[in-house]
Amino acid sequence: MFADQDQDQLYPEIREAVRNLCAGFDSAYWQRVEEQNGFPEEFVQALTQAGWLSALIPETYGGSGLSLTAASVIMEEINRNGGNSGACHGQMYVMGCLLRHGSDEQKQRWLPGIASGELRMQSMAVTEPTTGTDTTKLKTTAVRKGDKYVVNGSKVWISRVQHSDLMLLLARTTPLDQVKRKSEGLSVFVVDLREAIGKGLTVRPIRNMVNHETNELFFDNLEVPAENLIGEEGKGLKYILDGMNAERILIAAECIGDGYWFVERASNYARERVVFDRPIGQNQGIQFPIARSYVNVEAASLMRYKAAALFDAGKPCGKEANISKLLAADASWEAANVCLQTHGGFGFAAEYDIERKFRETRLYQVAPISTNLILSYVAEHVLELPRSF
Ligand SMILES: Cc1cc2nc3c(=O)[nH]c(=O)nc-3n(C[C@H](O)[C@H](O)[C@H](O)COP(=O)(O)OP(=O)(O)OC[C@H]3O[C@@H](n4cnc5c(N)ncnc54)[C@H](O)[C@@H]3O)c2cc1C
Repeated sequence: MFADQDQDQLYPEIREAVRNLCAGFDSAYWQRVEEQNGFPEEFVQALTQAGWLSALIPETYGGSGLSLTAASVIMEEINRNGGNSGACHGQMYVMGCLLRHGSDEQKQRWLPGIASGELRMQSMAVTEPTTGTDTTKLKTTAVRKGDKYVVNGSKVWISRVQHSDLMLLLARTTPLDQVKRKSEGLSVFVVDLREAIGKGLTVRPIRNMVNHETNELFFDNLEVPAENLIGEEGKGLKYILDGMNAERILIAAECIGDGYWFVERASNYARERVVFDRPIGQNQGIQFPIARSYVNVEAASLMRYKAAALFDAGKPCGKEANISKLLAADASWEAANVCLQTHGGFGFAAEYDIERKFRETRLYQVAPISTNLILSYVAEHVLELPRSF
């Protein structure tokens, strides 16, 4: 196993435990899930039962109350050991909105179940088909009628809905032309999917490049109890954005895990594959791209630790969280390309897992936030360049 001394010094016991758990889900397991267009249910269950996905839930609600740095190590190790955090990361961080902005009653009602895994809150519904990244223009509405809100509209790319009990929903409660600022008038709700599907909510799966369970949602007079509104009506976008730094840092960690996995696979293969009577890794044309990938993964990892440390200290970390996500997504994508190239034709064979991980890591350039939108954040909020939109 490719060992990285510096990294392994941080939370070695977490790393070892997650590594051991992942060892129970080998290459054959992931290939079987892919062949069946399935969901890695057993893998997510195992992580949940071991308590890894409740890392960020305080102990008072049954979680383990770990730091974001420790949580990032969990996500990194999953991807570093051949797994796919994309199937399970929602259970770790979607609840953050409820934890930070929910009432005591709401937290008591849902968090212990999420911590134990009895309740799966793996979905967050923000993106819409016609408005995309322009979130403030989203068209799904929630209109208060007595002790309920009535929801109408549609969403797209909403992940893990078929493997969740609860979903966070962002909808407009005050029309755009009646608010002072476009970021106002949006609200967040907890939707109980067990009650909603078939009674106002239709779920249509989207077949996609990465065997990711993701869906179109159609709301047709879906009734959500008013008591499921999180925080104050109209402040929902702020609540969702509050969770973004944690999400960016965890996603960066997943990319870093992927990056190390690709570098390790490429190095191993380059040492072993003999062509022209010598290992291909003896050629600097093969060595240098692998070495450069490693350099870039290491640099991204440092920025992840910096961002996570600031977050854990309760300090502003928008700049660092965004930069770490961009650097990590770029580094993992570079490493993926190099790994595939190093393997020549064999990189395309499903049994090597490289083409699967290659597709999985490509997603991080687009979701949960695209590279351009991060650059836009840095340009506007860090470099104070003129606002673009
Ligand atoms: C597999 C998958 C799972 C997902 N899961 C979820 C989920 O669970 N919940 C959820 O709410 N969403 C989810 N998403 C949606 C994801 O967050 C969006 O796809 C992403 O934010 C980009 O939005 P869009 O696809 O509408 O692209 P668009 O907004 O249509 O943008 C298209 C391209 O143009 C670029 N672009 C747009 N505007 C600008 C600009 N002003 N300047 C420069 N470039 C610009 C974008 O960066 C992007 O590359 C998922 C997406 C995928 C593919």
